[in-house]
Amino acid sequence: MRQSELFAKTIREAPRDEMSRNAIWLTRAGYVHKEMAGVYSYLPLGLRVIKKIEQIVREAMNRIGGQEVFLSALHPKENWEKTGRWQTMTDLYKIEDESDRELALGATHEEIITPLMATHINSYQDLPFSAYQFQTKFRHELRAKSGLLRGREFIMKDLYSFHRDQTDLDNFYKKVGESYREIFQTVGIGEQTIYTLASGGTFSPYSHEFQTLTPAGEDQIHICAKCHTAINDEIIAKHPTCPKCGGAERTVQTGIEVGNTFQLGDKFSVPFELNYRDETGKMKPVIMGCYGLGISRLMGAIVEVTADEQGLAWPIAVAPFRAHLLSLGSDKDTAVQTQATNIYNQLTKAGIEVLWDDRVVATGVKFTEADLLGLPYRLVVSARTVEKNLVEVKKRTVDEIKLIPSQKLCALIG
Ligand SMILES: [Zn+2]
Repeated sequence: MRQSELFAKTIREAPRDEMSRNAIWLTRAGYVHKEMAGVYSYLPLGLRVIKKIEQIVREAMNRIGGQEVFLSALHPKENWEKTGRWQTMTDLYKIEDESDRELALGATHEEIITPLMATHINSYQDLPFSAYQFQTKFRHELRAKSGLLRGREFIMKDLYSFHRDQTDLDNFYKKVGESYREIFQTVGIGEQTIYTLASGGTFSPYSHEFQTLTPAGEDQIHICAKCHTAINDEIIAKHPTCPKCGGAERTVQTGIEVGNTFQLGDKFSVPFELNYRDETGKMKPVIMGCYGLGISRLMGAIVEVTADEQGLAWPIAVAPFRAHLLSLGSDKDTAVQTQATNIYNQLTKAGIEVLWDDRVVATGVKFTEADLLGLPYRLVVSARTVEKNLVEVKKRTVDEIKLIPSQKLCALIG
């Protein structure tokens, strides 16, 4: 894509109403636009990051057998009354339509997927399976001040699994944990993201969270000095010593909860009568698990971990474009223009996504913006390089600049 055609512009000054690093950099770089506290629109570059993350997660979910669905965002009140959460879930958005009918804006989807599955599951032969979606969720957050980390409207992947018994759920639950670990590795924050024990669901002693450790995190995580078992602050009172090794020494760090996994047991199958017939003809409640992964929050967490003093610095797998091509000098410099066009075509043909800063602006502006936008490779073509058909290549996170022949570019950055 040519940068001259990109409508989203960068902003020189940090926005006054943003406190968090992720919101400041993403706004300044023209990735997102804040509509109100905790509510953001995604602009072309920001949406490309979201779609990259979604695709990584989608492929991971498909590998463990998940079937993709897209459930409704408007929920009937009756469903939420059936589980009691119309009253107890304090951050549920409730709305009324013109015929005075009350509705909820989906904060989570157990109240939709469980009755839906009751119309599809009959026998033990229908089990097990799992279904997931990417969905905009709504939560009435009172302290929505952390940019993409804590939204009132946010994008989430939620997976639900359905089993005949606890053993089958346990096996799948483990698989999801492994799949999440791979996802966080792929998006570039695997090292900073740890598996954490959290206060339990109703049917298991613990639920689990994936916490990305960064000073921007809002959760306190206690980490055993001996075996590195991590426990969320909420349950630490129950465990004066480490539940794994018995050690008493701990360090406390702050984390961003980027994923969570819960064993639901029959908590939702009972009220919605989601039952199956076993081999002997006996009716039994379906055993469920649910597994969340915040897509927009993950984007914010990646920024918190990777951004530096100059701006964003995307890991390759989630970068909106792999390369940022800068052509320097006047647009009348036909030699530079020709070389830039050739490189752009060569990369595009090889399937390497490239943003070409083809604008006629000062060189300093191009370099500053390249750092701000944070694409993994910066490629510079100028009067100096063009004679020998060379390109200046610099990685966003490394100071070294390499001069390489144009024709070797694909092999180097592809
Ligand atoms: Zn321990």
